[in-house]
Amino acid sequence: MSICKGIAGNRGRNPKGIFIHNDAGSGYADAAHYRNWLPTHNLENGFAHYYVCSDGTVQAEDDKYGAWHCADYDGNMNYLSIEVCQSMGNLEVFKKNEETALRLAAQKCKQYGIIPNAGTIRLHQEVAATACPHRSVEIHHGASNTKAYFISRIKQFMGENVSVPVHNTSGNTVFHAASMVSKGNPGIIFTYAVQLTDGTILPPVNNLEDFAGITGRSIANAAIKVNKGSVKYQVHILGGGWLPWVTGYDWKNHNNGYAGNGKAIDAVRVYYDTPEDIVSKYGYQRAQYRVSPVNSGYYPWQFDDETGNGQDGFAGCFGAAIDRFQLF
Ligand SMILES: [Zn+2]
Repeated sequence: MSICKGIAGNRGRNPKGIFIHNDAGSGYADAAHYRNWLPTHNLENGFAHYYVCSDGTVQAEDDKYGAWHCADYDGNMNYLSIEVCQSMGNLEVFKKNEETALRLAAQKCKQYGIIPNAGTIRLHQEVAATACPHRSVEIHHGASNTKAYFISRIKQFMGENVSVPVHNTSGNTVFHAASMVSKGNPGIIFTYAVQLTDGTILPPVNNLEDFAGITGRSIANAAIKVNKGSVKYQVHILGGGWLPWVTGYDWKNHNNGYAGNGKAIDAVRVYYDTPEDIVSKYGYQRAQYRVSPVNSGYYPWQFDDETGNGQDGFAGCFGAAIDRFQLF
């Protein structure tokens, strides 16, 4: 149960964008502070989903619920909210928190299929009479420059396979710890290919340079490999069940070279094992992947086999054949 317990209501659908706030708090208003303060705070005076601080990020509310963060019904209900904390304190600390907040925003954009643009990445002052996000606006020279900077930085982070460790108020890690130690890109390249139900094998794709599949034609089998560490994967047969995990990549090896039995599939599950040297340098990495039902838009991104926060442990929906697959 989240600390704010869904008090602002259940959205019943994915968030359509993200508001970036500055908390107007001192250098001492860190995660330890928010963890103590939130449970005693009168929530009607406002709260956000995430508080990004120098000592960690606190999640105060589950993504599926609204939060009273911007005094605007649509904003509160349909957008996630991220507070860049310690905005009255040391500039370098604030800048680091802002980077982490934008990285978290990128992770949320990927998770919910949000495309960063002027309509999805929002500032508090667009909908209410406030200087928020005051410090960001000051250092990026005005609201419109700030917004443009947020959008471009989020897009940049979306191209990297990193995630922000988020803690709930009891201090438990909600997401895998990753980017606390992460700077830069570990250079993980997934290569994947699919075979259609008519037997056609399509050329392999690396990360997000393309998608595997042809719109309108159902996928039967998939083969996946990675250049560092190891990956395992399995597929779910339309009208059937999960087939065993596979770790190889070879269309000629029917036992462990690809996942599938020639019939249409409706779901895929991928799990990435991060090698020690990447863990120590960049933190744990995850397979991030999505599929689209035939002739329709993509479902949200799935990370490994994670559940919660809008994820159900795999990509796909039982009963709907898929025609496109992406992984990075
Ligand atoms: Zn604000």
